[in-house]
Amino acid sequence: MKHQPFILLAVLALLALVGCESLGGGQSVDDGKINAVTTVGMITDIVQQIGGDYVSVTGLMGPGVDPHLYRPTARNVQTLQNADIIFRGGLNLEGKMGEIFDRLSERIPVIAMSEDIPESELLDFPAYPGHFDPHIWFDVSLWSMGVSTIADALAELDPEHAEDYAANAADYLQQLVALDAYVAETIQTIPEEQRVMITAHDAFQYFGRRYDIEVTGLQGISTEAEAGVQDVQNLVSFIVDRQIPAIFVESSVPARTLEAVQEAARARGWDVHIPAQLFSDALGNAGTGEGTYVGMVLHNVAAITSGLGGNIPALPAELADYQDVIDRAVSA
Ligand SMILES: [Zn+2]
Repeated sequence: MKHQPFILLAVLALLALVGCESLGGGQSVDDGKINAVTTVGMITDIVQQIGGDYVSVTGLMGPGVDPHLYRPTARNVQTLQNADIIFRGGLNLEGKMGEIFDRLSERIPVIAMSEDIPESELLDFPAYPGHFDPHIWFDVSLWSMGVSTIADALAELDPEHAEDYAANAADYLQQLVALDAYVAETIQTIPEEQRVMITAHDAFQYFGRRYDIEVTGLQGISTEAEAGVQDVQNLVSFIVDRQIPAIFVESSVPARTLEAVQEAARARGWDVHIPAQLFSDALGNAGTGEGTYVGMVLHNVAAITSGLGGNIPALPAELADYQDVIDRAVSA
């Protein structure tokens, strides 16, 4: 009988071990923080900005990962299952994960960045009739709507820190307002007849609509469809006829198709450049300016504007930390 306390402790210790075991390699975070799991880097960054010290964020999709084609590994599924809250883009961006999200949403809040954006603001998704274009982050004003979606969802889960989330969101929104204005100002410096953006997949329709630049892609909006020979010929004619100075490749799409376009244009006597790679559906490396949403947008805008013969204005004070991103994009 006198051994009972010892046995009890041993049993408790064993239970604790089993408890940890059952988390099985996921983020067994018990540091009092909210355990948030996110899909694309653009969302990972924003949840970190808003969650601050109270949220530990695990992003599933790193640099160069294509969310349209992404299939979670068994380990990723475990990470999702252990989340307190999940943030995704929605609008079928994570095209292969619909079923998993449906299942998880029965017991974990699964929040889409796009869920509070009015349908009237969304563009059609020709590759998938009946669906909307998921690439909303390239209209900074649209993406900004998701900031309060995230802040509200965190506040509901963790009411104690609701004020912190709201304050972080307000700070961040100030940066995004400055970013939106800067992008508009910068794109307008491109001579009008050259204000045409050609990319391998149509990730930039919202960008084109918001910032008044014509956008033409080689294939459908999703990377799942391959471009045909006729598409290439049509595009080459367009480039040569309009004397477009640059076309753009993206970090999450293979470069070979647009390199073929470049060669075909050269064969017809027009030298079209391929400037610094654009970020479309993924951020740059963590710890660099390009590894943030703001830096990704600034990189693209600088590469597009300098490639198409525009001028890069000075950064506003809210974005001054990103000067190195601009410098790298222009010199690449
Ligand atoms: Zn895409």
